[in-house]
Amino acid sequence: MGYRFRVLDPTPDAPAAQVADGQVIAAYDDVDAARRLAAQCDLVTYEFENVSAAVAGALAETCDVPQGSELLAICQHRVREKSTLAQRGLPVTPFAPISSVGDLDEALQRFGGRMVVKTCRGGYDGKGQWMVQSRADVERYAQEWARAIDHHRAAGFDDQPLIAEAYVPFEGELSVIVARNRRGEVRAFPPAENIHKRHILHMSIVPARYPEDVIARAVDVARQVAEALGVIGLIAVEMFVTQGGEILINELAPRPHNSGHYTLDACATSQFEQHVRAICNLPLGDVTLYSPVVMVNVLGQHVNPLLAQMSVLPSWVKVHLYGKAEAKRDRKMGHVNIVVDEVARALQWVEACGIWADTESARGSG
Ligand code: AMP
Repeated sequence: MGYRFRVLDPTPDAPAAQVADGQVIAAYDDVDAARRLAAQCDLVTYEFENVSAAVAGALAETCDVPQGSELLAICQHRVREKSTLAQRGLPVTPFAPISSVGDLDEALQRFGGRMVVKTCRGGYDGKGQWMVQSRADVERYAQEWARAIDHHRAAGFDDQPLIAEAYVPFEGELSVIVARNRRGEVRAFPPAENIHKRHILHMSIVPARYPEDVIARAVDVARQVAEALGVIGLIAVEMFVTQGGEILINELAPRPHNSGHYTLDACATSQFEQHVRAICNLPLGDVTLYSPVVMVNVLGQHVNPLLAQMSVLPSWVKVHLYGKAEAKRDRKMGHVNIVVDEVARALQWVEACGIWADTESARGSG
């Protein structure tokens, strides 16, 4: 698109730095370093929600940060995120803010004996999450929660450290990535059907295999989120589809999202181009899906099996490796987009190739 860009990332030779015009190597909460970056740029954007909201706020005072820092601050705290959505009448998983371990017994009763407890800040890919199905579980995890609360306070936060959520016995999970620009134009990409394994996104299937009315409601909810929160840029809205076909928002991410990587090879506009268009105040791009597609994540343990097959991969399997230095187990190292005429054919290939043999692929088993 003709733009040049620089990145700030604490890791030398970070993935984005490998394709950028320059890198500032610094922590995400280093205001001086962020100012040095901003001094070299016409505008600043973030694509990672653990960037400090205080740093984004400080930059916004002196330079153009189209996404702002408010939405970032909301998305960094699960209670704030869910209350903001609930206040605007949007459907969220029933939840209770937890300030001390003593609150958890009451929450368990309220949620009918089954709940998911999460840290409010900093959790991802199932880290900082506990499935609770009995009073015995509450006792078993009490010490871990006490440690998580101490950790939260020691980091200087005085808001709620934990959240309890009703366990949702969902039929499946969907996500919708929506772009909104400064002119208030809004466009949603086709919903992705997401399959998680051990709380980590395993694959996204597009078109999602749900009835049309469920898909339409998911898009509608996501558009409402973008409008209600005044998003500039992208927002990924992750949702549960209940057995009754109801949509409940689980989580937001104010940036390009793993479940939107399918757009790179299957849509008229990729989520990354759309983000740039939104923040640079260009008209939003066409979100047409050109082909069915299945995105499968390549975790650390999948890299060698994938590389071993590189020379025999069909050309409709599009490989994206991020250039991370170390392939640790469960670390997201890349993804493939399988671009075929039918989703079923892509799923058959995933099974048959054996690269993901460590993760079976049943729908909705969490
Ligand atoms: P999260 O980090 O909140 O996105 O959670 C990661 C994954 O854990 C989700 O994508 C679900 O598969 C599962 N999960 C999270 N919260 C709940 C819940 N309240 N009920 C059932 N499953 C959940």
